Amino acid sequence: MNSWLSVPPDSDFTIYNFPFGVYQMDQQKPRLASILGNHIIDLAAMNALGFFHDLHITEEVFENRYLNDFIALGKSVTNKVRQILIETFSNSDSGLAVNSEYRQLIIKSYDDVQMLMPVKVGNYTDFYSSIQHATNVGSMFRDPKNALMPNYRHIPIGYHGRASSITVSGASFHRPKGQTKAADAELPVFGPTKQLDFELEMAFITGKSTQLGDSVSTTDAEDYIFGMVLFNDWSARDIQTWEYVPLGPFLAKNFCSTISPWVVTIEALNPFRVKGEEQVPAVLPYLQFSGNKNIDINLTVEIETASGHVKQISQSNYKYMYWNMNQQLAHHTVNGCNIEVGDMYASGTISGNDETAYGSMLELTWRGSKPIQMPDGTERKFINDNDTVIMRGFAVNGDMRVGFGEARAKVLPAI
Ligand code: MN
Repeated sequence: MNSWLSVPPDSDFTIYNFPFGVYQMDQQKPRLASILGNHIIDLAAMNALGFFHDLHITEEVFENRYLNDFIALGKSVTNKVRQILIETFSNSDSGLAVNSEYRQLIIKSYDDVQMLMPVKVGNYTDFYSSIQHATNVGSMFRDPKNALMPNYRHIPIGYHGRASSITVSGASFHRPKGQTKAADAELPVFGPTKQLDFELEMAFITGKSTQLGDSVSTTDAEDYIFGMVLFNDWSARDIQTWEYVPLGPFLAKNFCSTISPWVVTIEALNPFRVKGEEQVPAVLPYLQFSGNKNIDINLTVEIETASGHVKQISQSNYKYMYWNMNQQLAHHTVNGCNIEVGDMYASGTISGNDETAYGSMLELTWRGSKPIQMPDGTERKFINDNDTVIMRGFAVNGDMRVGFGEARAKVLPAI
């Protein structure tokens, strides 16, 4: 499949993708959009010009600050919108291809727009579903011989995080401050974190709500999952070390998370499904599933220094997840916990089997014992002030490429 619009060969936003986002131009009101190559596609304009006529979607849905109302229309509608986009932009005889006035109203340059936080996140959960990450952390902090906790292969471990501080790619933040206590110190001190870290994750967004008391099975889970984004779960390791016992992460995690601006639909990712690692021992019946539920998504992390030097420091893959999204959602709701449209569920740090594929500085430098050499001659144990961390993700299968763009954020000095 090709488009009559130009799409660079390495673009994440091909005719197979059509993710959804929210953009703003010249301080005007935010509007819903999709993207093809470097072309922003204004969905509000397409709707006003009748491209989605049969779907009877009101203009408020597309002239909206967030995707939530659009997502809440349900997959029977949103998948048709995506299908109409694929047809409109692949067919060179389409009403849009032959009408320059329409093209001017609908197609904008990516360089001229600002991307906004795509969803209003009501609830945010962070899982811990990469077995290599859990093994690495267990080896460092507990016992290399018994790295995994006894529950790991039975439960998709997770915790409830903070939704208010999830930000969109491009938003910088100040180094957080908090309490830390060195192992040999008697008392804690207050100040900027000295161990600021990223966590390479992906997150899914639910598109359908449930009633309190209801559960979602692994079989039905995909009806409830709208799409995915890249997710950087920024973490302050020294604050975490002091605060996390006995209830888990708190201020070490809630100061900022960074996501990519385009929500890639599960339907666009289905061609890249692969089989996950065999789960041994067998999981309880409510966590069993059939079919290939992992997804082959190449992931990278780069650090850009204040001087503009860029180094790729990790190359991982979403296919390494031990627990898949179907199992995460089934587990999350098995007790009757209700879910809402726009809720976000991050995967946990995604680490592969060798040290080039680790998803955090904690693991890449093995707690700071193996610093990373940067191209400007400096070294990193953790993330410095004025560093920018850039995560990217894309899937490829033959001629098909579907990607996420980037999740980028710069760390400013503490204030
Ligand atoms: Mn995390």
